[in-house]
Amino acid sequence: MTQSSANAATLDIAIIGAGPGGLSAAHALANRGFSVGVFEQAQVLRPIGAALGLAEQGYAALGDISPTLSKQVQARATNPQQQLLMRPSGEILFADESPMAGTSFTWLGWFNLQSCLYEMLPDSVKLYLKHSLIHFESEPLDAPIRLTFQDQPDQFARILVGADGYRSVVRNKTVGDGPPLYTGTMTWRGSLPRQALSPLAAPFIEGAGFQLIVGQQKNFWMMDAGAEQIAWGGTAPQVSPEKSESALETVLQVFEGWPPIVQKMILTTDPMSIIETGVFDREPVPQWGDGQRITLLGDAAHPIRPALGMGTTLAFQDAVTLAGLLEDVTMTDIPSVSDALMQYEQQRIEITAPLQKKAREQGLASHSDDQADRLKMGFEAALASRRK
Ligand SMILES: Cc1cc2nc3c(=O)[nH]c(=O)nc-3n(C[C@H](O)[C@H](O)[C@H](O)COP(=O)(O)OP(=O)(O)OC[C@H]3O[C@@H](n4cnc5c(N)ncnc54)[C@H](O)[C@@H]3O)c2cc1C
Repeated sequence: MTQSSANAATLDIAIIGAGPGGLSAAHALANRGFSVGVFEQAQVLRPIGAALGLAEQGYAALGDISPTLSKQVQARATNPQQQLLMRPSGEILFADESPMAGTSFTWLGWFNLQSCLYEMLPDSVKLYLKHSLIHFESEPLDAPIRLTFQDQPDQFARILVGADGYRSVVRNKTVGDGPPLYTGTMTWRGSLPRQALSPLAAPFIEGAGFQLIVGQQKNFWMMDAGAEQIAWGGTAPQVSPEKSESALETVLQVFEGWPPIVQKMILTTDPMSIIETGVFDREPVPQWGDGQRITLLGDAAHPIRPALGMGTTLAFQDAVTLAGLLEDVTMTDIPSVSDALMQYEQQRIEITAPLQKKAREQGLASHSDDQADRLKMGFEAALASRRK
Protein backbone atom coordinates (compact mmCIF):
# COMPACT_ATOMS: atom_id res chain seq x y z
CA MET A 1 0.00 0.00 0.00
CA THR A 2 1.16 3.56 -0.53
CA GLN A 3 0.34 6.82 1.17
CA SER A 4 -0.16 9.79 -1.10
CA SER A 5 -1.15 13.42 -1.03
CA ALA A 6 -0.66 14.14 -4.71
CA ASN A 7 -3.58 14.63 -7.06
CA ALA A 8 -4.06 11.33 -8.85
CA ALA A 9 -5.72 10.09 -12.03
CA THR A 10 -9.36 9.01 -11.88
CA LEU A 11 -9.75 6.10 -9.47
CA ASP A 12 -12.14 3.25 -10.12
CA ILE A 13 -13.35 3.47 -6.54
CA ALA A 14 -12.94 6.10 -3.82
CA ILE A 15 -13.65 4.94 -0.28
CA ILE A 16 -14.23 7.54 2.41
CA GLY A 17 -13.04 6.36 5.83
CA ALA A 18 -10.22 4.07 6.95
CA GLY A 19 -12.13 2.24 9.69
CA PRO A 20 -12.64 -1.53 9.59
CA GLY A 21 -15.32 -1.08 6.91
CA GLY A 22 -13.34 1.13 4.53
CA LEU A 23 -10.09 -0.82 4.85
CA SER A 24 -11.71 -4.24 4.42
CA ALA A 25 -13.56 -2.93 1.35
CA ALA A 26 -10.26 -1.61 -0.04
CA HIS A 27 -8.78 -5.11 0.29
CA ALA A 28 -11.77 -6.81 -1.30
CA LEU A 29 -12.01 -4.36 -4.23
CA ALA A 30 -8.27 -4.14 -4.91
CA ASN A 31 -8.06 -7.95 -4.89
CA ARG A 32 -10.50 -7.87 -7.82
CA GLY A 33 -8.25 -5.55 -9.79
CA PHE A 34 -9.89 -2.16 -9.17
CA SER A 35 -7.81 0.94 -8.51
CA VAL A 36 -8.83 2.09 -5.03
CA GLY A 37 -8.13 5.21 -2.98
CA VAL A 38 -9.04 5.42 0.72
CA PHE A 39 -9.56 8.95 2.07
CA GLU A 40 -9.35 9.34 5.84
CA GLN A 41 -9.83 12.53 7.83
CA ALA A 42 -7.41 11.51 10.63
CA GLN A 43 -3.93 13.05 10.62
CA VAL A 44 -2.39 9.72 11.63
CA LEU A 45 -3.69 6.27 12.44
CA ARG A 46 -3.08 6.14 16.18
CA PRO A 47 -3.92 3.74 19.00
CA ILE A 48 -7.28 4.63 20.45
CA GLY A 49 -8.84 3.14 23.50
CA ALA A 50 -11.36 0.59 22.38
CA ALA A 51 -11.72 -3.15 21.92
CA LEU A 52 -14.25 -5.17 20.02
CA GLY A 53 -15.42 -8.73 19.77
CA LEU A 54 -15.15 -10.73 16.57
CA ALA A 55 -16.68 -14.16 16.17
CA GLU A 56 -16.88 -16.86 13.54
CA GLN A 57 -18.96 -14.84 11.06
CA GLY A 58 -16.50 -11.93 11.18
CA TYR A 59 -13.49 -14.14 10.57
CA ALA A 60 -15.38 -15.99 7.83
CA ALA A 61 -16.07 -12.70 6.02
CA LEU A 62 -12.43 -11.64 6.41
CA GLY A 63 -11.40 -15.07 5.11
CA ASP A 64 -13.57 -14.50 2.04
CA ILE A 65 -11.54 -11.34 1.39
CA SER A 66 -8.23 -13.04 2.13
CA PRO A 67 -7.51 -16.13 4.28
CA THR A 68 -4.12 -14.64 5.21
CA LEU A 69 -5.74 -11.42 6.39
CA SER A 70 -8.19 -13.36 8.55
CA LYS A 71 -5.35 -15.36 10.13
CA GLN A 72 -3.25 -12.24 10.76
CA VAL A 73 -6.12 -10.47 12.51
CA GLN A 74 -6.87 -13.57 14.58
CA ALA A 75 -3.21 -13.74 15.61
CA ARG A 76 -3.55 -10.30 17.23
CA ALA A 77 -6.68 -11.23 19.18
CA THR A 78 -7.43 -13.17 22.36
CA ASN A 79 -9.97 -15.91 23.02
CA PRO A 80 -11.43 -15.43 26.52
CA GLN A 81 -10.76 -18.40 28.82
CA GLN A 82 -12.42 -17.18 32.00
CA GLN A 83 -15.61 -15.26 32.73
CA LEU A 84 -16.39 -13.21 35.80
CA LEU A 85 -19.68 -11.43 36.49
CA MET A 86 -20.30 -9.35 39.58
CA ARG A 87 -22.52 -6.62 40.95
CA PRO A 88 -21.16 -3.17 41.83
CA SER A 89 -21.33 -4.26 45.50
CA GLY A 90 -18.69 -6.91 44.77
CA GLU A 91 -21.16 -9.83 44.98
CA ILE A 92 -19.95 -12.49 42.53
CA LEU A 93 -22.68 -13.95 40.31
CA PHE A 94 -20.59 -16.08 37.96
CA ALA A 95 -16.89 -17.04 38.01
CA ASP A 96 -16.03 -19.94 35.76
CA GLU A 97 -14.64 -21.01 32.44
CA SER A 98 -15.83 -18.67 29.67
CA PRO A 99 -18.68 -20.10 27.58
CA MET A 100 -16.63 -18.74 24.65
CA ALA A 101 -13.40 -20.58 25.58
CA GLY A 102 -12.15 -22.67 22.69
CA THR A 103 -14.53 -21.08 20.17
CA SER A 104 -13.40 -18.71 17.42
CA PHE A 105 -14.73 -15.72 19.41
CA THR A 106 -12.01 -13.19 20.26
CA TRP A 107 -11.53 -9.75 21.73
CA LEU A 108 -9.10 -7.44 19.99
CA GLY A 109 -8.08 -3.82 20.20
CA TRP A 110 -9.83 -1.65 17.60
CA PHE A 111 -6.43 -0.22 16.67
CA ASN A 112 -4.90 -3.72 16.36
CA LEU A 113 -7.57 -4.47 13.80
CA GLN A 114 -7.17 -1.16 11.96
CA SER A 115 -3.37 -1.40 11.85
CA CYS A 116 -3.45 -5.01 10.63
CA LEU A 117 -5.92 -4.13 7.85
CA TYR A 118 -3.78 -1.11 6.98
CA GLU A 119 -0.38 -2.83 7.03
CA MET A 120 -1.65 -5.63 4.80
CA LEU A 121 -3.26 -3.41 2.15
CA PRO A 122 -2.22 -4.37 -1.38
CA ASP A 123 0.33 -2.00 -2.96
CA SER A 124 -2.27 -0.83 -5.45
CA VAL A 125 -4.34 0.86 -2.70
CA LYS A 126 -3.51 4.47 -1.89
CA LEU A 127 -4.34 5.77 1.58
CA TYR A 128 -4.80 9.53 1.79
CA LEU A 129 -4.62 10.75 5.41
CA LYS A 130 -5.72 14.30 6.38
CA HIS A 131 -8.48 14.07 3.75
CA SER A 132 -11.78 15.13 5.25
CA LEU A 133 -14.52 14.90 2.63
CA ILE A 134 -16.74 17.96 2.64
CA HIS A 135 -18.55 17.73 -0.69
CA PHE A 136 -18.94 15.63 -3.83
CA GLU A 137 -20.45 16.21 -7.26
CA SER A 138 -21.80 13.28 -9.28
CA GLU A 139 -23.26 15.13 -12.29
CA PRO A 140 -22.87 14.79 -15.24
CA LEU A 141 -23.13 11.01 -15.13
CA ASP A 142 -20.60 10.42 -17.91
CA ALA A 143 -17.89 12.32 -15.98
CA PRO A 144 -16.02 11.02 -12.93
CA ILE A 145 -17.38 11.93 -9.49
CA ARG A 146 -15.56 14.99 -8.12
CA LEU A 147 -14.56 14.75 -4.45
CA THR A 148 -13.78 17.88 -2.46
CA PHE A 149 -11.74 17.74 0.74
CA GLN A 150 -10.86 20.26 3.43
CA ASP A 151 -7.60 22.02 2.38
CA GLN A 152 -6.66 19.33 -0.16
CA PRO A 153 -6.85 19.10 -3.95
CA ASP A 154 -9.99 17.57 -5.48
CA GLN A 155 -9.92 13.88 -6.42
CA PHE A 156 -11.93 11.93 -8.99
CA ALA A 157 -13.47 8.45 -9.03
CA ARG A 158 -15.98 6.34 -10.97
CA ILE A 159 -17.65 4.97 -7.84
CA LEU A 160 -17.91 6.51 -4.36
CA VAL A 161 -18.28 4.34 -1.24
CA GLY A 162 -19.07 6.17 2.00
CA ALA A 163 -17.51 4.14 4.82
CA ASP A 164 -17.32 7.25 6.96
CA GLY A 165 -19.08 6.02 10.08
CA TYR A 166 -22.36 6.87 11.78
CA ARG A 167 -22.07 10.62 11.07
CA SER A 168 -21.43 9.97 7.37
CA VAL A 169 -21.04 13.01 5.11
CA VAL A 170 -21.85 10.83 2.10
CA ARG A 171 -25.09 9.60 3.68
CA ASN A 172 -26.06 13.14 4.56
CA LYS A 173 -26.34 13.85 0.84
CA THR A 174 -27.64 10.50 -0.48
CA VAL A 175 -30.15 9.61 2.26
CA GLY A 176 -30.41 12.98 3.98
CA ASP A 177 -31.93 11.59 7.17
CA GLY A 178 -30.19 14.09 9.43
CA PRO A 179 -28.05 13.35 12.47
CA PRO A 180 -27.93 9.83 13.97
CA LEU A 181 -30.32 8.96 16.80
CA TYR A 182 -28.91 9.17 20.32
CA THR A 183 -29.90 6.05 22.28
CA GLY A 184 -29.67 7.71 25.70
CA THR A 185 -26.47 5.84 26.58
CA MET A 186 -22.95 7.23 26.94
CA THR A 187 -19.85 5.09 26.73
CA TRP A 188 -16.26 5.48 27.89
CA ARG A 189 -13.50 3.21 26.62
CA GLY A 190 -9.77 2.81 27.17
CA SER A 191 -6.89 0.38 27.03
CA LEU A 192 -3.55 -0.02 28.78
CA PRO A 193 -0.61 -2.40 28.99
CA ARG A 194 -1.61 -5.40 31.12
CA GLN A 195 1.67 -5.12 32.96
CA ALA A 196 0.54 -1.80 34.41
CA LEU A 197 -2.12 -3.62 36.46
CA SER A 198 -0.28 -6.79 37.45
CA PRO A 199 -0.76 -8.56 39.70
CA LEU A 200 -4.55 -8.44 39.72
CA ALA A 201 -6.10 -9.32 43.07
CA ALA A 202 -8.68 -12.14 43.19
CA PRO A 203 -11.40 -12.50 41.99
CA PHE A 204 -10.06 -10.65 38.97
CA ILE A 205 -8.37 -12.90 36.51
CA GLU A 206 -4.86 -12.55 35.17
CA GLY A 207 -4.85 -13.14 31.43
CA ALA A 208 -7.47 -14.07 28.84
CA GLY A 209 -10.40 -13.09 31.00
CA PHE A 210 -13.61 -11.22 30.36
CA GLN A 211 -14.93 -9.54 33.44
CA LEU A 212 -18.21 -7.74 33.78
CA ILE A 213 -19.61 -5.60 36.57
CA VAL A 214 -23.29 -4.89 36.07
CA GLY A 215 -25.84 -2.99 38.12
CA GLN A 216 -27.51 0.38 38.78
CA GLN A 217 -28.41 0.38 35.04
CA LYS A 218 -24.68 0.64 34.21
CA ASN A 219 -22.12 -1.81 32.81
CA PHE A 220 -18.35 -1.91 33.18
CA TRP A 221 -16.25 -4.51 31.37
CA MET A 222 -12.57 -5.42 31.14
CA MET A 223 -11.04 -7.86 28.74
CA ASP A 224 -7.72 -9.07 27.41
CA ALA A 225 -7.65 -7.66 23.92
CA GLY A 226 -4.53 -9.00 22.26
CA ALA A 227 -0.93 -9.41 23.32
CA GLU A 228 -0.18 -7.54 26.53
CA GLN A 229 -3.18 -5.29 26.20
CA ILE A 230 -6.13 -4.97 28.51
CA ALA A 231 -9.15 -2.94 27.45
CA TRP A 232 -12.07 -1.60 29.43
CA GLY A 233 -15.35 0.09 28.72
CA GLY A 234 -18.31 1.43 30.60
CA THR A 235 -21.82 2.50 29.67
CA ALA A 236 -24.40 4.45 31.59
CA PRO A 237 -27.66 6.23 30.81
CA GLN A 238 -27.16 9.97 30.24
CA VAL A 239 -29.73 12.48 29.07
CA SER A 240 -27.52 14.24 26.52
CA PRO A 241 -24.66 12.93 24.31
CA GLU A 242 -22.66 16.11 25.04
CA LYS A 243 -19.02 15.29 25.72
CA SER A 244 -17.72 16.44 29.09
CA GLU A 245 -14.68 18.65 29.60
CA SER A 246 -12.75 15.76 31.09
CA ALA A 247 -13.67 12.21 30.06
CA LEU A 248 -11.41 10.97 32.87
CA GLU A 249 -13.19 12.94 35.60
CA THR A 250 -16.61 11.97 34.25
CA VAL A 251 -15.99 8.26 34.01
CA LEU A 252 -14.42 8.22 37.49
CA GLN A 253 -17.54 9.92 38.81
CA VAL A 254 -19.97 7.63 36.95
CA PHE A 255 -18.32 4.54 38.46
CA GLU A 256 -17.58 6.00 41.89
CA GLY A 257 -18.00 3.45 44.67
CA TRP A 258 -17.63 0.48 42.29
CA PRO A 259 -15.01 -2.21 43.09
CA PRO A 260 -11.56 -0.55 43.44
CA ILE A 261 -10.24 -2.27 40.30
CA VAL A 262 -12.54 -0.04 38.22
CA GLN A 263 -11.07 3.21 39.51
CA LYS A 264 -7.55 1.76 39.34
CA MET A 265 -8.01 0.69 35.73
CA ILE A 266 -9.33 4.09 34.70
CA LEU A 267 -6.63 5.99 36.60
CA THR A 268 -3.86 3.85 35.06
CA THR A 269 -5.03 4.68 31.52
CA ASP A 270 -3.49 7.54 29.53
CA PRO A 271 -6.28 10.16 29.96
CA MET A 272 -5.76 11.42 26.39
CA SER A 273 -6.62 7.98 25.01
CA ILE A 274 -9.96 7.61 26.79
CA ILE A 275 -12.81 7.81 24.31
CA GLU A 276 -16.11 9.29 25.44
CA THR A 277 -18.97 8.90 22.95
CA GLY A 278 -22.71 8.65 22.87
CA VAL A 279 -24.17 5.44 21.47
CA PHE A 280 -26.13 6.17 18.30
CA ASP A 281 -28.10 4.26 15.72
CA ARG A 282 -30.52 5.06 12.89
CA GLU A 283 -33.76 3.77 11.47
CA PRO A 284 -33.13 1.39 8.55
CA VAL A 285 -33.85 2.97 5.14
CA PRO A 286 -34.73 1.28 1.80
CA GLN A 287 -31.78 2.76 -0.14
CA TRP A 288 -28.32 3.98 0.91
CA GLY A 289 -26.84 5.57 -2.19
CA ASP A 290 -27.91 7.69 -5.15
CA GLY A 291 -29.10 4.62 -7.09
CA GLN A 292 -26.31 5.18 -9.62
CA ARG A 293 -22.63 5.40 -8.64
CA ILE A 294 -22.60 6.08 -4.91
CA THR A 295 -23.25 3.75 -1.97
CA LEU A 296 -22.55 3.32 1.75
CA LEU A 297 -20.88 0.61 3.80
CA GLY A 298 -20.48 -0.28 7.50
CA ASP A 299 -21.72 2.12 10.18
CA ALA A 300 -22.43 4.78 7.54
CA ALA A 301 -25.02 2.44 6.05
CA HIS A 302 -26.42 0.65 9.12
CA PRO A 303 -25.21 2.07 12.45
CA ILE A 304 -26.13 -0.51 15.06
CA ARG A 305 -26.10 -0.48 18.85
CA PRO A 306 -23.12 -2.46 20.17
CA ALA A 307 -25.39 -4.85 22.10
CA LEU A 308 -24.97 -7.64 19.53
CA GLY A 309 -21.23 -6.99 18.92
CA MET A 310 -21.93 -7.23 15.19
CA GLY A 311 -20.96 -3.82 13.75
CA THR A 312 -17.57 -4.81 12.41
CA THR A 313 -18.71 -8.19 11.14
CA LEU A 314 -21.50 -6.54 9.17
CA ALA A 315 -19.02 -4.09 7.65
CA PHE A 316 -16.76 -6.99 6.53
CA GLN A 317 -19.75 -8.76 5.02
CA ASP A 318 -20.75 -5.57 3.18
CA ALA A 319 -17.25 -5.44 1.68
CA VAL A 320 -17.45 -9.05 0.48
CA THR A 321 -20.89 -8.58 -1.11
CA LEU A 322 -19.99 -5.29 -2.77
CA ALA A 323 -16.76 -6.60 -4.28
CA GLY A 324 -18.46 -9.78 -5.49
CA LEU A 325 -21.22 -7.87 -7.27
CA LEU A 326 -18.80 -5.40 -8.88
CA GLU A 327 -16.40 -8.12 -10.02
CA ASP A 328 -17.25 -8.17 -13.73
CA VAL A 329 -18.57 -4.63 -14.03
CA THR A 330 -16.92 -2.04 -16.30
CA MET A 331 -16.62 1.18 -14.32
CA THR A 332 -17.77 3.41 -17.20
CA ASP A 333 -20.89 1.28 -17.84
CA ILE A 334 -23.25 3.28 -15.62
CA PRO A 335 -26.33 0.98 -15.93
CA SER A 336 -24.20 -2.04 -14.88
CA VAL A 337 -22.61 -0.10 -12.01
CA SER A 338 -26.03 1.08 -10.88
CA ASP A 339 -27.47 -2.43 -11.10
CA ALA A 340 -24.60 -3.89 -9.03
CA LEU A 341 -24.88 -1.19 -6.34
CA MET A 342 -28.67 -1.56 -6.10
CA GLN A 343 -28.33 -5.35 -5.74
CA TYR A 344 -25.67 -4.83 -3.08
CA GLU A 345 -27.91 -2.50 -1.10
CA GLN A 346 -30.95 -4.75 -1.35
CA GLN A 347 -29.03 -7.85 -0.27
CA ARG A 348 -27.38 -6.12 2.65
CA ILE A 349 -30.44 -4.14 3.82
CA GLU A 350 -32.39 -7.40 4.05
CA ILE A 351 -29.78 -8.69 6.52
CA THR A 352 -28.82 -5.53 8.42
CA ALA A 353 -32.24 -3.88 8.97
CA PRO A 354 -33.63 -6.63 11.29
CA LEU A 355 -30.32 -6.70 13.19
CA GLN A 356 -30.43 -2.93 13.74
CA LYS A 357 -33.87 -3.40 15.33
CA LYS A 358 -32.80 -6.40 17.40
CA ALA A 359 -29.69 -4.56 18.67
CA ARG A 360 -31.88 -1.65 19.70
CA GLU A 361 -34.11 -3.92 21.82
CA GLN A 362 -31.13 -5.68 23.40
CA GLY A 363 -29.37 -2.37 23.98
CA LEU A 364 -32.38 -1.12 25.97
CA ALA A 365 -32.47 -4.36 27.98
CA SER A 366 -28.76 -4.05 28.84
CA HIS A 367 -29.60 -1.10 31.09
CA SER A 368 -32.54 -2.76 32.83
CA ASP A 369 -32.47 -3.48 36.56
CA ASP A 370 -32.38 -7.27 36.08
CA GLN A 371 -29.56 -7.29 33.50
CA ALA A 372 -27.01 -8.88 35.87
CA ASP A 373 -29.40 -11.72 36.74
CA ARG A 374 -30.22 -12.31 33.08
CA LEU A 375 -26.53 -12.41 32.16
CA LYS A 376 -25.85 -14.89 34.97
CA MET A 377 -28.59 -17.21 33.64
CA GLY A 378 -27.25 -16.80 30.09
CA PHE A 379 -23.66 -17.67 31.07
CA GLU A 380 -24.79 -20.69 33.12
CA ALA A 381 -26.98 -22.02 30.31
CA ALA A 382 -24.27 -21.48 27.67
CA LEU A 383 -21.62 -23.21 29.76
CA ALA A 384 -23.92 -26.12 30.63
CA SER A 385 -24.77 -26.67 26.98
CA ARG A 386 -21.06 -26.55 26.03
CA ARG A 387 -20.19 -29.14 28.67
CA LYS A 388 -22.93 -31.60 27.58
C1 LIG B 1 -19.07 0.88 22.81
C2 LIG B 1 -18.95 0.19 21.48
C3 LIG B 1 -18.60 -1.15 21.48
C4 LIG B 1 -18.53 -1.83 20.26
N1 LIG B 1 -18.23 -3.15 20.30
C5 LIG B 1 -18.21 -3.85 19.15
C6 LIG B 1 -17.93 -5.25 19.15
O1 LIG B 1 -17.71 -5.87 20.20
N2 LIG B 1 -17.90 -5.91 17.95
C7 LIG B 1 -18.13 -5.25 16.77
O2 LIG B 1 -18.10 -5.90 15.73
N3 LIG B 1 -18.39 -3.94 16.73
C8 LIG B 1 -18.43 -3.22 17.89
N4 LIG B 1 -18.71 -1.89 17.85
C9 LIG B 1 -19.02 -1.25 16.58
C10 LIG B 1 -17.80 -1.03 15.72
O3 LIG B 1 -16.86 -0.23 16.38
C11 LIG B 1 -18.27 -0.36 14.41
O4 LIG B 1 -19.35 -1.07 13.87
C12 LIG B 1 -17.15 -0.35 13.40
O5 LIG B 1 -16.06 0.42 13.87
C13 LIG B 1 -17.67 0.24 12.08
O6 LIG B 1 -16.64 0.39 11.16
P1 LIG B 1 -16.75 1.48 10.01
O7 LIG B 1 -15.46 1.39 9.27
O8 LIG B 1 -18.02 1.31 9.28
O9 LIG B 1 -16.88 2.89 10.73
P2 LIG B 1 -15.86 3.62 11.71
O10 LIG B 1 -15.10 2.63 12.53
O11 LIG B 1 -16.66 4.64 12.43
O12 LIG B 1 -14.83 4.34 10.73
C14 LIG B 1 -15.19 5.46 9.97
C15 LIG B 1 -13.93 6.18 9.53
O13 LIG B 1 -14.32 7.26 8.67
C16 LIG B 1 -13.57 8.40 9.00
N5 LIG B 1 -14.34 9.58 8.55
C17 LIG B 1 -15.50 10.04 9.06
N6 LIG B 1 -15.93 11.12 8.39
C18 LIG B 1 -15.01 11.35 7.40
C19 LIG B 1 -14.89 12.33 6.37
N7 LIG B 1 -15.80 13.30 6.20
N8 LIG B 1 -13.81 12.28 5.52
C20 LIG B 1 -12.87 11.30 5.68
N9 LIG B 1 -12.94 10.35 6.65
C21 LIG B 1 -14.01 10.37 7.50
C22 LIG B 1 -13.39 8.31 10.50
O14 LIG B 1 -12.28 9.08 10.94
C23 LIG B 1 -13.16 6.81 10.69
O15 LIG B 1 -11.79 6.46 10.58
C24 LIG B 1 -18.79 -1.15 19.03
C25 LIG B 1 -19.10 0.20 19.03
C26 LIG B 1 -19.18 0.87 20.24
C27 LIG B 1 -19.55 2.33 20.24
